[in-house]
Amino acid sequence: MSARNRHASPGSKPLPMNNQASISALLDLILERNSFVVTSHVRPDGDAIGSSLGLMHLLEAMGKQATVVFTDPIPPNFHFLPGVERISSKFPASDAVIFLECDSVERSSIDRLEFEAAQPLLTINIDHHRSGRNFAQFNWIDPEAAAVGALVYDLVVASGVPVSSVMADCLYTAILTDTGSFNYPSTSASTFAMAEHLVRSGTDPNLIARAIYFCNPLSKVRLLGIAISNLQIEGAVCWSHVTLAEIDRVGASVEDCEGVANHLIGIAGIEGAVFLRELPGRSQFRLSMRSRGTLNVSRIAEHFGGGGHHNASGCTMEGSLKEVTECIVAELRAACIQLQEDRLHASTQPSTLLA
Ligand code: 5GP
Ligand code: MN
Repeated sequence: MSARNRHASPGSKPLPMNNQASISALLDLILERNSFVVTSHVRPDGDAIGSSLGLMHLLEAMGKQATVVFTDPIPPNFHFLPGVERISSKFPASDAVIFLECDSVERSSIDRLEFEAAQPLLTINIDHHRSGRNFAQFNWIDPEAAAVGALVYDLVVASGVPVSSVMADCLYTAILTDTGSFNYPSTSASTFAMAEHLVRSGTDPNLIARAIYFCNPLSKVRLLGIAISNLQIEGAVCWSHVTLAEIDRVGASVEDCEGVANHLIGIAGIEGAVFLRELPGRSQFRLSMRSRGTLNVSRIAEHFGGGGHHNASGCTMEGSLKEVTECIVAELRAACIQLQEDRLHASTQPSTLLA
């Protein structure tokens, strides 16, 4: 019987075998220890913050000490989350460090030197990125999960700890944001079953939506205006950028740049989109890629040292705006051409071969 079945939640489906094994091994590791540091990736998003705080609440409900550590700022839209005021930028001593949504210590939001000085005895990695890596001592990577918040939810249910309203707020936020408000292909019946359980446990979807989607700083909207006015389209590919001077002009922060790429992929007929943000210092750009359907932008990001998901990925590239744009647009253009050739090939195959 699966962990989730043992503590049945409304509408839950059995967990895959490897998840059951990971969850029970992870619960054993937690039960044997007292203090935990929980962290996630740089420039944290809703899943990074929601799953970290959700896990902190679970650990505390299990009688453990937990400190969530982020060195990067928490975007204002997530300041409502219960426990956010306790997030620390310092790395305390602990029995184990739990990384959520990271493919390495470098991508995490903790200071590498502080991490090494603390010499943690155990490192745990929970991720759902296809580009995830087994960099920790214990690794649980499930690319089918809609959010790391969904994996933490499975852990909560398997632990037998009742879902509190603070856990529910954090995990609902993680799942809501990482499924693009229940729109991405990762959304399934079990995503809604989780959401239902979290709402029944005390979360208020309207309050959460208001905090996240209806509280944008004016600077974020002005920055989006600049990005949209810099938009260029060629066939099924579109791209846009903001320079440091443009970010400065509207008084925007780095967090204000989150989500711009989602607007680009929302344009009818576009299959691949990239948003470039100029970084301070030497000539460098941060890239946010999005795609639709089978076009795999994680593969492109990984090629340039980044990573992510099939339809959403990111990386950093060096060069002038012109150089970086030409390079990445060429990659997206080639991926689109390949896609069209694959479709053509599939449509000319005898139907018996396709079966
Ligand atoms: P975004 O474009 O929203 O910054 O990122 C899209 C997705 O790609 C997120 O899941 C994010 O975690 C992942 N991602 C973005 N940049 C990087 C990167 O440099 N390395 C890795 N491994 N993942 C990234
Ligand atoms: Mn995520």
